[in-house]
Amino acid sequence: MLARQTLRLSTRARLFSSTAARPAAAEVKRLGVIGAGQMGLGIALVAAQRANVPVTLVDASQASLDKGIAFAEKLLAKDVAKQRITQEQADAARALFTPTTTLDSLADVDFVIEAVPEIPSLKFDIFSKLAEICPKHAILATNTSSISITRIAASTTGGRPTDTSNSSRVVSTHFMNPVPIQKGVEIIAGLQTSAATLETAVAFCQRLGKVASVSADSPGFLANRILMPYINEAVICLETGVGDRDSIDAIMKNGTNVPMGPLQLADFIGLDTCLSIMKVLHEETGDSKYRPSVLLRNMVDAGWLGKKSGKGFYDY
Ligand code: NAD
Repeated sequence: MLARQTLRLSTRARLFSSTAARPAAAEVKRLGVIGAGQMGLGIALVAAQRANVPVTLVDASQASLDKGIAFAEKLLAKDVAKQRITQEQADAARALFTPTTTLDSLADVDFVIEAVPEIPSLKFDIFSKLAEICPKHAILATNTSSISITRIAASTTGGRPTDTSNSSRVVSTHFMNPVPIQKGVEIIAGLQTSAATLETAVAFCQRLGKVASVSADSPGFLANRILMPYINEAVICLETGVGDRDSIDAIMKNGTNVPMGPLQLADFIGLDTCLSIMKVLHEETGDSKYRPSVLLRNMVDAGWLGKKSGKGFYDY
């Protein structure tokens, strides 16, 4: 099925994009990761540990970089303590990291994954620079949760949208949180993404031990398009008195064999994140079925964001 969807999107990509060669996944000798936060660090760690790939890790803030590296070291030490890996393997993985605060250090990568905060102008600015800095064969991937891949790709054209030499190498590799644990990754093709770029992105994520799902560029992609309306509907059920919190979570947990109910899951994701994704689905599609729940909005306004703020549908 994956091969069929990749082929379908690849065929569409061939209609529009350049046919420039891209490195095969095995030829990715150095990865660049931008943003040493939750997601970027997880991606860098998985690449070093599972695929033995050297990683240039860029963050604008030295403090975030130090914090990220310290966290990676802690995770590696935990793996050693649990005898999942040896001390030598942990040291070898750590040695593959090159931390830096300058984007110019990405001049020798074959594949780069951007994981900076979800701010469109920030991502557009970074991609316009990557088009200049990275080698011409390199794949430029984003980990965005909600921003259009097509728009990110357009930012690499320097105002010449019909020149697809850079935009055709932009793709999304949307990893799930926490990256070392969640196996799934969404590979999303923008309108300009070439077949070769898409195929390399799928194969590289497989090399990292992930299970890839391929989709077209559409609001929410696949995972959030399906998950967020489910969570939103659970909040509407609570808001309108169809069921109380415990009944809603219990029926979904015990009736559909998921590890936690939708309200608890929303608390773990962060209610602000859930609301912002629902807003994207609503605004980008104009479809009223994606209207965010009033209770969800009110809880975000109150600062009750879930686990991270100590209060959401549950108290922490
Ligand atoms: P985060 O806030 O934990 O980390 C972002 C990092 O980027 C920070 O360390 C910050 O210092 C750095 N940064 C900011 N501006 C920068 C710049 N100009 N250049 C280099 N580094 C810069 O964020 P996160 O949760 O890791 O999310 C990153 C991306 O992944 C976002 O697009 C988000 O939507 C997406 N995402 C997040 C999750 C999640 O559950 N957290 C899941 C899937 C996708």
